[in-house]
Amino acid sequence: MPERLPETLQEKIADRLGFYEDLGIRQFYRDRMTGPCESLSSMTLASPPATTEENPLPKPVRKPELQKAAPAFAPAAAKISPLPLPVTAGPSLFESIEKIADDTLLKIREDLGECTRCKLHSTRNKIVFGDGNPKAQLVFVGEGPGADEDAQGLPFVGRAGKLLTQMIEAMGLQRRDVYICNVVKCRPPGNRQPEEDEVHTCSPFLLRQIDTIAPKVIVCLGAVAAKTLLQTNRGISQFRGEWLEFRGRKLLATYHPAYLLRNPPAKSEVWKDLQKVMAVLGLEVKKGKSPEAGKSVS
Ligand code: URA
Repeated sequence: MPERLPETLQEKIADRLGFYEDLGIRQFYRDRMTGPCESLSSMTLASPPATTEENPLPKPVRKPELQKAAPAFAPAAAKISPLPLPVTAGPSLFESIEKIADDTLLKIREDLGECTRCKLHSTRNKIVFGDGNPKAQLVFVGEGPGADEDAQGLPFVGRAGKLLTQMIEAMGLQRRDVYICNVVKCRPPGNRQPEEDEVHTCSPFLLRQIDTIAPKVIVCLGAVAAKTLLQTNRGISQFRGEWLEFRGRKLLATYHPAYLLRNPPAKSEVWKDLQKVMAVLGLEVKKGKSPEAGKSVS
């Protein structure tokens, strides 16, 4: 029988969860790479548990073949940071999902069909499956379609999309060279964040897309994509720009272009992140060149 938490602690946790709910934070994940959770009864909410080597973020990539392919790449040590939020029990969303042999984007799109698996179907216009090179070395994962994407059925075609396109071009690539998709394929009404059940229902399709494209690098655009793939509650600023791993592939999280539209100074941070990606992909990194990209999109 699991030990019951003392009532005072239960109340503190309920208060804290209510506080996060008020902030609009509803999805809590168990960190993939954490060891067994410390007994909650031995924690105090005022002072989160000191984090140790047993409690890191998903590991930096160590796959030898990837390092061979990218000799210039020196994986940064994952930042060891305290667990800021309580975690839910239960299996990780992706742990049990095997790669499907002979899968293709076409099959995945067919399986998705005219999806009614979650409530987002009732308000969407078009499913936004994903777009780009089915053999891309670089996959960008966003949060979910906005109004423009919902109208056109294509990812990142609105203002944030124009900025993303400029960022891709600043990397020396074209949109057709990369693959762009989202955690959820249907627009959350009013551009709210996708809810836990929606993410849970839709992300197996994202997983199949990533498995089948088999990119060298995945770039998560914003916290929803990063938290979903990494199964973490940590704020994106704690691991932004760090090389992490997702199912044996290099993953890097950076800020969402919509955030950059609101906070242009953060573009330089994103550009540094994208330069790391360029180095791994063997693209020429020009010292001092900053993405003038985006400055005209405001
Ligand atoms: N924001 C996203 O996260 N995805 C899109 O496709 C468009 C905007």
